[in-house]
Amino acid sequence: METPETGKRSLNFIEAIIEEDLKNNKNEGRVHTRFPPEPNGYLHIGHAKSICLNFGLAEQYNGLCNLRFDDTNPEKEEQEYVDSIMEDIRWLGFEWNEKPLYASDYFDQLYEWAVKMIKRGKAYVDDQPQELIAEQRGVPTRPGVESPYRNRPVEENLDLFERMKNGEFPNGDRVLRAKIDMASPNMHLRDPIMYRILHEEHHRTGNKWCIYPMYDYAHGQSDYIEGITHSLCTLEFEIHRPLYDWFLDQIAEGDYRPRQIEFARLNLSYTVMSKRKLLQLVEEGLVSGWDDPRMPTISGLRRRGFTPQSIRSFADRIGIAKRDNVIDVGLLEFSVREHLNQIAPRVFAVLDPVKVVITNYPEGKTEEMEVDNNPEDPEAGKRKVPFSREIFIERNDFMEDPPRKFFRLGPGREVRLKGAYIIKCEDYKKDENGNITEIYCTYDPETRSGGSGANRKVKGTLHWVSLPHAIEAEVRLYDRLFMDEDPAGHKDRDFREFINPDSLKILTNCKLEPSLQSARPDDKFQFQRLGYFCADKDSTEEKLVFNRTVPLRDSWAKKNR
Ligand code: ATP
Ligand code: MG
Repeated sequence: METPETGKRSLNFIEAIIEEDLKNNKNEGRVHTRFPPEPNGYLHIGHAKSICLNFGLAEQYNGLCNLRFDDTNPEKEEQEYVDSIMEDIRWLGFEWNEKPLYASDYFDQLYEWAVKMIKRGKAYVDDQPQELIAEQRGVPTRPGVESPYRNRPVEENLDLFERMKNGEFPNGDRVLRAKIDMASPNMHLRDPIMYRILHEEHHRTGNKWCIYPMYDYAHGQSDYIEGITHSLCTLEFEIHRPLYDWFLDQIAEGDYRPRQIEFARLNLSYTVMSKRKLLQLVEEGLVSGWDDPRMPTISGLRRRGFTPQSIRSFADRIGIAKRDNVIDVGLLEFSVREHLNQIAPRVFAVLDPVKVVITNYPEGKTEEMEVDNNPEDPEAGKRKVPFSREIFIERNDFMEDPPRKFFRLGPGREVRLKGAYIIKCEDYKKDENGNITEIYCTYDPETRSGGSGANRKVKGTLHWVSLPHAIEAEVRLYDRLFMDEDPAGHKDRDFREFINPDSLKILTNCKLEPSLQSARPDDKFQFQRLGYFCADKDSTEEKLVFNRTVPLRDSWAKKNR
């Protein structure tokens, strides 16, 4: 939200908290945030919101932002995810403080603190199975049932906890629980589990540990160890906050405490955003991988042709709120279109070609037509595009029997070829199935763009590619992966039922202007009149492959402005 006087937006509620803390010299005026991904999947656009928030605040207030892998669950975590997460954060344009950190670096310290809590009577080993423990927790309106092991002597707890650590018990045999309050209306305070037994190799600590701390215990203590001042998380953790604070009170020495602040997670229409569901799409081959351009992952958006700037400006636009809401996926598309409009060179590409012969143009002649690379960017300059007697135009730019408002080509009608001449359709040919195979036109030599007769007006302007100079490419057109606004929001229907069967269309016979021969993966273009495209990583000099990032049409802005 911009204030009209200054052009600056007003503070969001987290900035307001930070500014108040700075005013009071809380934490000696330090601002230290962290981004704590669990390395069990690739990052998605929701994470991008959190990254922009955490790293952005650190930048804004001259503070620091840690990257901390929340790697407390060895079953689902992998190095591949760690690597992709770092790549994605850097690509977005952020750099973490010093080196990447890992919750697993703190396993020794966390264990020590747990022992200390046992000694103070604040934690106990429970021999009951986890299902029974869950059952005994009961419902918020009635007190839960205390475990028969709740009051076992400290010495026995210390002995059992050590033996848990030493691997004497099988998975699930015992847990360590915090001793808080089995009657608390906040279920998270009903003696939550701190440690469980898991004989599982960890991607960093190997087989050193067979007990692993639970998120609630590990997270706040990691914040404390790192000197985090503002620990930002999504709203579902609000109810955990009393537990976050309770754990800190058990271990903190002094006044310093990290403060947990909750904000609304990003939800996008027509999108699923949980890593578990995205993993399902990948594992079941419903998409080509985590970086499939239809995925809402950062790597998918990157491959689709999004720029870091467009994602950051999207994050800015949606802002930070305290209430959950759903953002129109059109706003994300709007953000990338807006940025690509500024930076993407314009080129000619014909995706569904039909041949046009200009019968009065000399055979064998080629002219170099000068066209603007980007009218939005005065620095972008001009380039030369070859023009000749035979060209391709888009099949749907011609109609045999066009309605009056169709300003493109039809029998007897005139159009301008962008950057070249005005042509008039004299005749056309069809095959036995009624498909147009060739269109015959004449051109008016006086109407060359930039020339003396260039001012003659016609209603339509078409893009084109010279036939003998054209290079071939495969173009992949993407549409939304889901047909439903809230694919994961149906009680008795699986989100996969809403997959859009037409979310990928592959066009193999596309004709491009010759300058595109040098396009390399990730290069971005506006294919004139069609949309924004980028060269895919599958693209080689032998076989060019392009992805459509977004069509040109800007339905979101029309609807909302
Ligand atoms: P998912 O629900 O997709 O599995 P997660 O919360 O389990 O995500 P983490 O790796 O734990 O994934 O998330 C790292 C950080 O990103 C957390 O601080 C989390 O709050 C934040 N985050 C995750 N999803 C979103 C979202 N949709 N919007 C904003 N922040 C998010
Ligand atoms: Mg999580």
